[in-house]
Parts: sequence; structure tokens; C-alpha cells
Amino acid sequence: MEKQEKRLQELAPELLEKKEAEEKDIFEFIGIREHEKVVTAFPPEPSKYPHIGHAKAIIVNYELAKRYNGTFILRFEDTNPEMVEADFYDMNLENYTWLGIKPDRIDYASDYMEEFYKYAEKLIKDNHAYVCSCPQEAIKENRKNGTECEHRYSLPEKNLELWHEMSKARAGKYVLRLKGHMQSPNSTLRDPVIFRVVDKPHPRKKKKYRLWPNYDFESAIMDGIEGITHRLRSKEFELRNELQRLIQTMAGFRETKIYEFARFNLEGTESSGRIIREKVQKKQLIGWDDPSLTTLVALRRRGFLPEAIKEFVLSTGLTKTEAVLTWDDLIVHNRRMLDAKCNRYFFIENPKEIKVENAPEQTAELKLHPEHPEKGLRKLRTKDRFYVAEKDFKEFKDGKLYRLMDCLNFTKKKNNFVFDSLEYEKYKQKGDRIIHWLPVQKDLIKAEILMPNKEVKKGLAEPMARNLKVGDTVQFSRFGFCKLDNKKSDKLVFWYTHD
Ligand SMILES: [Zn+2]
Repeated sequence: MEKQEKRLQELAPELLEKKEAEEKDIFEFIGIREHEKVVTAFPPEPSKYPHIGHAKAIIVNYELAKRYNGTFILRFEDTNPEMVEADFYDMNLENYTWLGIKPDRIDYASDYMEEFYKYAEKLIKDNHAYVCSCPQEAIKENRKNGTECEHRYSLPEKNLELWHEMSKARAGKYVLRLKGHMQSPNSTLRDPVIFRVVDKPHPRKKKKYRLWPNYDFESAIMDGIEGITHRLRSKEFELRNELQRLIQTMAGFRETKIYEFARFNLEGTESSGRIIREKVQKKQLIGWDDPSLTTLVALRRRGFLPEAIKEFVLSTGLTKTEAVLTWDDLIVHNRRMLDAKCNRYFFIENPKEIKVENAPEQTAELKLHPEHPEKGLRKLRTKDRFYVAEKDFKEFKDGKLYRLMDCLNFTKKKNNFVFDSLEYEKYKQKGDRIIHWLPVQKDLIKAEILMPNKEVKKGLAEPMARNLKVGDTVQFSRFGFCKLDNKKSDKLVFWYTHD
């Protein structure tokens, strides 16, 4: 690392400076004092696949805690039995572990039900909440018009009584509502429902509870219980902040400091869970890991590195201004990292056979990595027959000199290909282009590459590619980075990462 930094200092000092400046600045605006206590959290609902926007939220909260020797809590907000799904706990954890997140503590909001009840009762006793038995439609209409209902004026004793009755009543008969501001321009404050009855069994708690808090109450109370000091989150929650602060104040907690940053996704990618689910059902997408998506499962399967994702999201900063981010903005980070470590191989798309007249028999030696000779060589025995990509084949022009990479030079004469020389120096003087190739021999292996638009590129790969393991990412010369997705006895299937 030291050596590399020194070398970078010589080659491009501006890159180092830029990186340092970014790392220093991103949290500076919060103005945290030395020795100030910092507790942050990231609260996923175990009901969806996290995407790059969630990655940003978890990474910035995690990094903020780390930077100030604070505590980072991963909290599952799992108090809506209608949404929560059992498999999604582990899947979320796995994704965040892959991102390099090591929480100091993992919390499940559903473990805090008794606490939620305690605070609900406190709010009722303090006349901050009331039990309402208006029909759902009427509540909706009244909230829209800013109209209060008669239940708002029941006494706390009556509300306590109804609250206990509510836990035994049929679902939908009663709800507990916060006494907010019915005429507030912020509609979330218009006496929102904070508790309701749900009979669907909960994946962790089964049928133990029927009274479930809604999201804002749960989140605000959990922030209070865990002592979350700072919260960085995306702007779509902006309207809810006022409500959550109000709940915290009513419950007697110190307010969590909340900072918003712009919504975050890449241009042209679908991030709506509802639409993705539909497209998966209609088989328009392979699954939640379809290579066109920015879900973490998709990015991972396609060959993006967690370090590149982290570097990218931190580089976008914490401003509120929406910026158009594209795949290229992410790819530039990933490419640099892959380029430094991935071995090079040949993949010939739509192979065309050519005979190079008078080509000598030889063993071509190609480096696995141009900057790491210690990684070793690929050796290919050659005679006079070669496979080249159809695209190159079509572009050969009469009289031009071509080079088969690290092998030989030849010219095209009418419909024939004729050996010219071995030396690169000779090519360098007047050559047209260097192309990748494979010797015509039995040992080659078929390869398929799935592109992000689902097109499948077919061709042949060199014998050494057989030794690759599923999950390995390679660079196919003059083609791009590809991750081995699965391996069959007669075929390798890759996913295209990027060029
Ligand atoms: Zn009512």
C-alpha cells in the first residue's frame, strides 16, 4: 500500500489530494465535536432487496459512526407483519456483510413490542393519543380535509379502556391515533394512525401480538430507545421527520439529528420494488439479480466489487441536490479495481478460422496480467491455423499488416493470409491493429457471455479458462470484464461486468 501510494504520488499526485479532501469533507458539515457521542443506525425493513440507494444510506451511517468512534446499529424495522418476510432477514444481512459492514449491534424492532406498548400508554395518559373507531375511509377523508372526529375529544381514561379493548377487537374496528395537528400543511401530522390490529402471523413472533405500531411510531421510538444521535437519510423521508420528532418529544426522548441527502439511483435503472416484482413475474427480468438492476444481488452477481460501490457512494457526497448519476460513474471505480487484479484471457466471439501461410510452429507466451509477471504465463501451442473474432475478420483489409497478440505478424493478400514476421517491433512500424486469437485445437472451451441487455454472446475461450472458479472475474482482452457465473462440463457461462 505504501509503495503504491508513493508511486501514485509520482504519477498523479492530484488523485491523492482529491481522495484525501473527499474523505475529510463528507461529514464536516454536521459539525461533530471531539468526544461527542455518536450512535447511528440503518433500519431496513426485511421485505425487499436492498439496492444501491440503500447501500449509500448504510455506508454513510456506518462510516460516520466509525469516523467518530461511535456505535453503529443495524435495525430490522419488522413491525408490519403484512410486509415482513422470513427470508429477507438473512438476505439483507448477507448483502450488508458483503458490503463490508460490521454492525456493533443488530436489533429487531419486533423484540421491543412491550416497550412500544409502554410508550403508547404514556402517550394516551398524557392525552397525546386517542382510540378512534371511525371507518377507514372516513379517517382518510377527514385527514385529507383536516377535519377532527369526535374520538379526538375522549378523555384519557376512556382511551385507555378502549386501548385494552382494541387488542381483543376484530381487525379494523379501532386504531390508535396520534394527536397531531389536523390542519398542518404537512399531512403526515394530521392525526396519523400509530397502532392497528393485524392478524397475519409475524415471521419471528408468530401470533404473540395483534397490536402493531406503524412505521413512524416504531422508527421514532426505536431511535429513542437505541439513543440514535445522528441519522443520515435520503430525502424521500423529509415529510416524516417532523412527525417522528414530534413522537420522540411526546415520548420524552431527545430528538435525533436528521440530515437528508438527495435520492440516489443510477439513470435509466428500475428501482421500484413493485415494478421489479411484476417484471420478474412476467419473466422480463431474470430475477432480482437481473444484470440491468442496481440491487446489491445484481451488482454482486455481475462483478461489481463492494469496495468500488463504497468508494462511489462516498464520492457522491451528502448534498441535497439531485444529480444525474449514470452507470459510468460507478463503473469508473470498479474498472480501476478490476484492472489491477483480474487476469487476462482470450475469448473469441463468433470464431472465424484463418490459415496463416508459412506460419512457424511455436509456443506463444502471454502474461496473465501485464503488470504482474509473477502471476505467470498462458502458453498456447500454435501452427498455422487460428480463430479470430468475426468482427475482426470482417475488417481485414488487403495489404495491411496485422499482429496476433504476442504471437506473430501477418498480411492479408486477396483472400489469403500470409506470415510476415514474429517481432512486435516490425508490427510497430506499420501495423494496422493487434488482435486476440486462439489456435485451432481441440482443447478450447465454449463460452457464453450474458450482456446486461440479456443478449448472449457466444464463442470460444482458451484452455486455461477451464481452471477458473465460479465467481472469478477476468478480463477478456479487447472484450471486457466478465464474471464466471456457472460452469458446465462443456461450457463456461459468464456475466458481462463492463468494458
Ligand atoms: Zn374517529
